[in-house]
Amino acid sequence: MRDDACRRAEIARLGMTIAIDGPAGSGKSTISKVLARRLGIGYLDTGAMYRALTWFALERGIDLEDEAAVLCAAKVMPLEMHADPDAPVYRVGGVDVTDAIREARIALAIAKVSTNLSVRRWMAGEQRRRMMEARRSGSGMIAEGRDITTVVCPYADVRVLLLADEEERLRRRTIEMHGRATPELMERVREQITKRDAADSTVSQFLVPAEGVSVVDSTGLGIDGVTQAILAVVDRNLEARA
Ligand code: C5P
Repeated sequence: MRDDACRRAEIARLGMTIAIDGPAGSGKSTISKVLARRLGIGYLDTGAMYRALTWFALERGIDLEDEAAVLCAAKVMPLEMHADPDAPVYRVGGVDVTDAIREARIALAIAKVSTNLSVRRWMAGEQRRRMMEARRSGSGMIAEGRDITTVVCPYADVRVLLLADEEERLRRRTIEMHGRATPELMERVREQITKRDAADSTVSQFLVPAEGVSVVDSTGLGIDGVTQAILAVVDRNLEARA
């Protein structure tokens, strides 16, 4: 049985890319940050990249229906991301947008950006480049999103689809947004989450695992349980490459 020090040493020698996909509220961000910290690798929140682009396009008054203009915005956006899982900071042209990209107005507009197929192609290339660069530099990266196991990095060393029961996902998202989960608040968030999942699933498949992708169901498992389940997949990969 490997401990974290042993895993970190092997990863520093072999490099590692970890791809985590799942729907809203499946716990991807929380778990990815825990794993990045424990394994000593970078953390890439691909949702934050779509959020930052939505913020940037709105800021510039770009019509989000104008696919070519939004693609151009993606190419010129001066986005700075810090891969540190303890303090993820996002800046666009020097402006700290870490909080602004979590505002409701971004969540409401984001589907227009994330269903733009030219933008998706560009994002995938950029995300893949960041992951491979981190792997080459002698450590690695964990990236979480909707299409990481299938499009962005289908050859990642470890690929996991994180699922959770719908009510549990709804409860988690409601607590995240409102600090508590009363039945009324949950109903309000339900509509938002259902709409977003429906729009997202028109462009990526994140409810059924692609071949070779391990499924982890986080319902009732807790953060430690999910972390252990994914570390078991990491250990199998290290074993195979030792
Ligand atoms: O993960 P998060 O909720 O921050 O993602 C925000 C939105 O970004 C998603 O609802 C989806 O529309 C988009 N997204 C995507 N592909 C990814 C990551 C996020 O389309 N890999």
